[in-house]
Amino acid sequence: VTEGPGADRSEALGALHRVFGYDAFRGEQEAIIEHVVAGGDALVLMPTGGGKSLCYQIPALVRPGTGVVVSPLIALMQDQVDALRALGVRAGFINSTQDFDERRTVEAEFLAGELDLLYLAPERLRVDATLDLLSRGKISVFAIDEAHCVSQWGHDFRPDYLNLSLLGERWPDVPRIALTATATRATHQEITQRLNLPEARHFVASFDRPNIQYRIVPKADPRKQLLAFLREEHAGDAGIVYCLSRNSVDRTAEFLTANGIAAVPYHAGLDAATRARHQSRFLREDGLVVVATIAFGMGIDKPDVRFVAHLDLPKSIEGYYQETGRAGRDGLPSTAWMAYGLNDVVQQRKLIQSGEGDEAFRRRAASHLDAMLALCETVRCRRGQLLAYFGQDATEEGCGNCDTCLTPPETWDGTVAAQKVLSTVVRLQRERGQKFGTVQIVDILLGKRTAKVIQFDHDQLSVFGIGDDLAEGEWRGVVRQLLAQGLLAVEGEYGTLVLTEASGEVLRREREVPLRKEPKRPTTARAAGRG
Ligand code: ADP
Ligand code: ZN
Repeated sequence: VTEGPGADRSEALGALHRVFGYDAFRGEQEAIIEHVVAGGDALVLMPTGGGKSLCYQIPALVRPGTGVVVSPLIALMQDQVDALRALGVRAGFINSTQDFDERRTVEAEFLAGELDLLYLAPERLRVDATLDLLSRGKISVFAIDEAHCVSQWGHDFRPDYLNLSLLGERWPDVPRIALTATATRATHQEITQRLNLPEARHFVASFDRPNIQYRIVPKADPRKQLLAFLREEHAGDAGIVYCLSRNSVDRTAEFLTANGIAAVPYHAGLDAATRARHQSRFLREDGLVVVATIAFGMGIDKPDVRFVAHLDLPKSIEGYYQETGRAGRDGLPSTAWMAYGLNDVVQQRKLIQSGEGDEAFRRRAASHLDAMLALCETVRCRRGQLLAYFGQDATEEGCGNCDTCLTPPETWDGTVAAQKVLSTVVRLQRERGQKFGTVQIVDILLGKRTAKVIQFDHDQLSVFGIGDDLAEGEWRGVVRQLLAQGLLAVEGEYGTLVLTEASGEVLRREREVPLRKEPKRPTTARAAGRG
């Protein structure tokens, strides 16, 4: 065997053909594999479905020794290992689901140099016995999968990942490759710093998923809207529906089932056996819908997920991108559909305010939410906005495969409407020392003499009835957009509306407020024509 990159390349290509049965590398796979085979560290940022696994599996096959893969996805290890074994790769795993004998067998194989790949859960590396075991064998490469789990921001944080910098200290000569599908600049930096990978070469793939159509519709009756969307566009398709709470997961799954759609719930409140059963049904059956909290999905390798629907707003664009990215891994047309409304904004703002964490954490959470809201309210191409968030340029003319490109939303000058809302909030506070939520503000604007309006004498306010030019839904849309733009804020457990610093600019007529027009009958694109 001759040394040098040429030899590595043909060996890598040989493994691709012989073991995996593929004709060619995709995207940056070849460059990544070549770099790691030559002993370099790498940080790989590639969207879900991009083909990250081969980036460490092939180096593990080509270099002498065993490739050690650190992965938090214990539930999937058995499947991953079985799939590799079916291809003739000598793979094994060590995790808490095994009994003593099974683990002993894998350990013996590793020590005898009979394993190409060994999967480990990160918590294993806390145990000295595991580190001793690893020191007694020969390691070809360390792969740290789902590397964003080292980031304290984001819902996938695993404290054990912080420990992984020790791999570089104890095995300085073994190349390390960290992989993730989450990829803001801040996350890259956090990964390189916390995993201590200063020399790692960064491979950043395009984050565009051209086969996914992005759509965000105004929320009216979300379950019915979802049902219409599924019936009209995804009858019989497999997909994932995300909800914020366990309760709403259960109710949505029941609702879909009652309406003839095969759906199962998935959340952390179900026992492990039920969760495992629902997950494996989703992987094996055709056309099953999983209704889930964000607890579901990481590492799920199902190529033909045709849609991902959100009934509640994700906390960040990272979360939205990762969740929607589970659709269409096979490259075929798929839909990312979300229903979004005023209550989402109020609820998320309240969660941040009443949640844990210090002031800095809250500010950060708020800026993540702001970016997500900007995506919901944009009148420009959604894909362009999404890619821009990940630091990637998009075409000026739009993608042609998102709702705003397909049916550009109309905008209107909402400056006067915004002033009406804001001055109602001001009047209540200045003249009465009162704070109220959206419902009361809108009732006052519309001049509705509800019991609560009478009770507080709000029909005596000078602003009472000044908003009869718009309908109730339109006012809620104005409030939602003002909240999204930071021109209005919510406070306290009742979500009362209060002014922000920027509100003053609108009230003093120093600033215009362009708004998106609310559709008259908010349903899915094609359902709009129905009764
Ligand atoms: P990721 O981990 O980035 O989400 P995977 O490694 O699971 O993606 O790969 C996604 C799918 O693409 C898998 O079914 C995999 O077998 C396939 N794949 C990866 N690389 C290639 C390639 N070079 N040629 C053909 N198929 C590939
Ligand atoms: Zn677009």
